[in-house]
Amino acid sequence: MTTATLPPDLDAELSALLGAEGWRTDAATRQAHGSDDSRRHAMPAGVALPRDRDQVAAIVRACRRHRVPLVARGAGTGTAAAAVPFGGGIVVSFARMNRILQLRPDDRCAVVEPGVVNGDLQQALQPLGLFWPPDPSSFETCTIGGNLACNAGGPRAVKYGATRDNVLGLVAVTGRGELVRCGGPRTKDATGYDLTHLIVGSEGTLALIVEATLRLQPLYRDAASATAA
Ligand SMILES: Cc1cc2nc3c(=O)[nH]c(=O)nc-3n(C[C@H](O)[C@H](O)[C@H](O)COP(=O)(O)OP(=O)(O)OC[C@H]3O[C@@H](n4cnc5c(N)ncnc54)[C@H](O)[C@@H]3O)c2cc1C
Repeated sequence: MTTATLPPDLDAELSALLGAEGWRTDAATRQAHGSDDSRRHAMPAGVALPRDRDQVAAIVRACRRHRVPLVARGAGTGTAAAAVPFGGGIVVSFARMNRILQLRPDDRCAVVEPGVVNGDLQQALQPLGLFWPPDPSSFETCTIGGNLACNAGGPRAVKYGATRDNVLGLVAVTGRGELVRCGGPRTKDATGYDLTHLIVGSEGTLALIVEATLRLQPLYRDAASATAA
């Protein structure tokens, strides 16, 4: 289904929900949110920039009611066109949900919103002697939500695994606009189906991630390298 224009009722509902800063239908904003690093482009009919999880859930419920497709977007550094709205409809950008909610050094975990940039989290963790292992080379711009949705990984994946191995729990919005919480900060939060690891890597097709609890590691105190010839 391609939705180049929006039902007027949906336009009015999202405008009332998100305000002028959070609901954009001008051509420049739509153009800028129509592509990622794949260099492919499709024009969305509108761009939603929610501030919190309740707004995300309300957007999903409204789009579902009007049968308008939506595509999640982090920083748009993906190279596979997964954030490109080929069906038209709405792009949901997590750029304004970029708060680090908790740093818990004693529990070696952090709770973040999906729009936090990977590099910003690493900077916040450094004074605590901690880091989050996923290190895609786009770390200065890509978001934690995008890392989770793509199961991103960099060189450190050899030792620590990719993103899936470094997440303890999620809060996500389903296609029905319902909030689900899975996993949690304790390793023993192991009851029930493992939805956390199912959602990680699903590229926004199963749910929209609105909060993540991340497993942290201690920074190396001493590092040395040797070359043998
Ligand atoms: C220069 C460069 C270097 C790169 N290096 C690496 C690398 O070393 N390793 C690697 O794995 N990748 C790499 N990438 C690819 C890309 O940066 C990663 O996949 C990154 O995780 C994407 O994050 P993003 O915030 O840009 O997500 P986007 O590109 O905006 O979105 C990617 C996918 O995630 C979904 N998504 C985004 N946020 C959410 C959310 N909150 N809930 C649900 N779904 C969501 C989108 O719908 C889309 O399917 C690189 C890209 C570039 C341009």
